[in-house]
Amino acid sequence: MDGTRCYIGLGSNLDNPARQVATAIEALTQLPNTTVIRVSSLYRSPPMGPQDQPDYINAVAALDTRLSPESLLQQLLSIEQRHGRVRGSQRWTARPLDLDILVYGEIEIDTQALTIPHPGIAERNFVLYPLLEIAPGLVIPQLGSISSLIAGCEPGDLVKLHDEWRELKV
Ligand code: ATP
Ligand code: CA
Ligand code: CA
Repeated sequence: MDGTRCYIGLGSNLDNPARQVATAIEALTQLPNTTVIRVSSLYRSPPMGPQDQPDYINAVAALDTRLSPESLLQQLLSIEQRHGRVRGSQRWTARPLDLDILVYGEIEIDTQALTIPHPGIAERNFVLYPLLEIAPGLVIPQLGSISSLIAGCEPGDLVKLHDEWRELKV
């Protein structure tokens, strides 16, 4: 499978978050013209923004896809919907599933619908540490190498979980 190497950030803090992430990865493997290459461990992180919500389970997946960035986003939004995601007006509230396009090859996009690389990468330990695990040599357009980004981002309260979640796969 050729295509463009992309990195997808997964997050959940509702309705059995580890299972949400596991079934989302399964859904990624079913996407057309797409192959999942690697998946990080699961990580637990405190919420961003409103603090009156549960901790998150996060992971990052590497995939090769021939979908355009716009089609990939549509597919991810559809997977989120199938996992019960409802968007309200407030940012960063609890959700059963969030799928972000972190990186799409060398591409840079900045439109209303899509910003790639994802603007939160450099400050988010729950993105950088899983990325380091699966793509330590990655260089991100505009942002630089994973190792330089990690040097500027403390792990803080991020916890790497064990690998039992793979048994949750349906
Ligand atoms: P953040 O983007 O800060 O992580 P969030 O994931 O909670 O916050 P959402 O409500 O999931 O934000 O997304 C709002 C919109 O962001 C989506 O409908 C989508 O159109 C847009 N968006 C822009 N860039 C991206 C990207 N790289 N990946 C996913 N969605 C994106
Ligand atoms: Ca997000
Ligand atoms: Ca999102």
